[in-house]
Amino acid sequence: MIRLQKYRVVKLLDYRLFIFDLDNTIYDENNYLRKAYNYIAEMIFKKNSSLSVRQMSSFLISEFENNGRFNLYQKLLDKYDIGNFPLKEFLYCLRNVPIDCNSIPIDKKVQELITILINHKKMVSVLTNGNPDQQKNKINSIDFPHKNEIKIYYASSKGSEFEKPSPYFIDKIKYDSCVEKNEILFIGDSKIDSDTAKNSCIDFMNINQIEQL
Ligand SMILES: [Mg+2]
Repeated sequence: MIRLQKYRVVKLLDYRLFIFDLDNTIYDENNYLRKAYNYIAEMIFKKNSSLSVRQMSSFLISEFENNGRFNLYQKLLDKYDIGNFPLKEFLYCLRNVPIDCNSIPIDKKVQELITILINHKKMVSVLTNGNPDQQKNKINSIDFPHKNEIKIYYASSKGSEFEKPSPYFIDKIKYDSCVEKNEILFIGDSKIDSDTAKNSCIDFMNINQIEQL
């Protein structure tokens, strides 16, 4: 059971609207990326049957885990002869990897928190940066409760100047939900998320604080 002491739950339940970040807040993004990188390796293999899916997949995953996603395509290109698989295709596969609906589990404590909130008739939204096609694919893949009751906002859908940490979408969600700023709690995992809350003049909680509540 989620470790929320009673008085803390009561305090948390003072808010009416809860906005969650998506990646590494609701679920572990590595679970999506591992599938995507494996899929990319399979698609490259279709055009280059002399290359090993397992090796390319391991290379992408370990490079990502050790050094992040920056320049990942170029690193793959430097290591393997994949000139017939352009960056455009790499990105298309990354964003559209076919994953079964609700097959990626979410963090147990987040699942419990969302269930508590919905049961208390709280409003719940998700605000995520990132390519909207990719973020929609993730939403479809992730198994989080009450999905149909949660409105998803894609901050990159309007252009990069409207992405977090811009307050634009927080203001939009506030307007759509008819709540005051002091009734909103933003829950995220990164500095971009805490900056978004600061820029929007709303309260923020880091998802890792849940354990300590
Ligand atoms: Mg995040």
